[in-house]
Amino acid sequence: MPDVLIVLGSSSGLPTRRRFAPGYALTAAGKLFLLDCGAPASTLLYRYDLDPVEVEAVFVSHWHMDHVANLGLFLSQNRLLKRTSPLAIYGPRGTRGKVRRLLSDSFLLTDELSYKLRITNIECNEPYQEALLQVTYFKTQHLEKPKLKTQFGSKATACGMVIDGPGWRVVYSGDLTSPQELGPYIEGCDVLVHEMAHVDPEEVAEFAATAKVPQVLISHIGPEFDEAPEKIVEAFARCYRGKLTVAEDGTRLRLKGKR
Ligand SMILES: [Zn+2]
Repeated sequence: MPDVLIVLGSSSGLPTRRRFAPGYALTAAGKLFLLDCGAPASTLLYRYDLDPVEVEAVFVSHWHMDHVANLGLFLSQNRLLKRTSPLAIYGPRGTRGKVRRLLSDSFLLTDELSYKLRITNIECNEPYQEALLQVTYFKTQHLEKPKLKTQFGSKATACGMVIDGPGWRVVYSGDLTSPQELGPYIEGCDVLVHEMAHVDPEEVAEFAATAKVPQVLISHIGPEFDEAPEKIVEAFARCYRGKLTVAEDGTRLRLKGKR
C-alpha cells in the first residue's frame, strides 16, 4: 500500500453539513496512524477500507473539542473489537490525565481495556518514533493567551507537527495565528497541511510561495470558505505556483518519497 494521507474531516471548529471536524488517517510503510480525532474516525476508517484496530498511534495537536471529540469512542470501540496490540497516544502536557479521565468518566478502567495504552505527554522539539514514522511537535500561538494560562497553566498548549515518513515530510500546522509561526519548521517540507480557520488564504499562499513548499493541502476550513473553496484557490493562484489541494472530507493525498 502506498503512503497516503486521508482527510477524515475538513471543517473548522464548526462542523458543517459537508464537513466533519478535523481528523486525518495517515499510512507510512503499511502502518496506520491518526492525526487528531475530531472526526468520527471509528466509522470513517471503515469507509476508507482501513481497520480501527490497526491504528498504531494517535497524535493529538491540542485538546480543543474539534480535535479530540471522537477519541473516547475510538478507544472504547477498540476495546469492543478486542484489540490486543498496544495503542500509543501522543499529545501536549495533560494528555495522559485527560485520556485516563475520559475513560474513567465513562466507567472504563484502563486495566480493563483489552489492549495496552501507551500515553505520552510530548515535549516540543523532541522526535517521537513509531515504526517508520517520526513526529516532532512544535508549539503554536493558538492557546497562548494570558487568561487561558491563568486558568489552565501550561496544559493550555497547542501544537503543530513535523511528520517524517519514509522519504517524505509533512508539516501539519495544527491551529495557529499565522503561517509565519511555521518558519523554523518548514525546511524540507513536501506537503504542508495548513488550517484555514484562523488565517487568511493570501497569508498562507504567500508563506508557501516564499518557503517554496511544493504541495499544500488546505484543511480545517472555516465557515467563510465551507461552501466557497474557490475563494482559497483564487487567493493561491495569485502567487503560489506549487500544487494546491483544498480538502473535502475524503480527500486522499499520495505521499511520495523523494529518494
Ligand atoms: Zn481547531
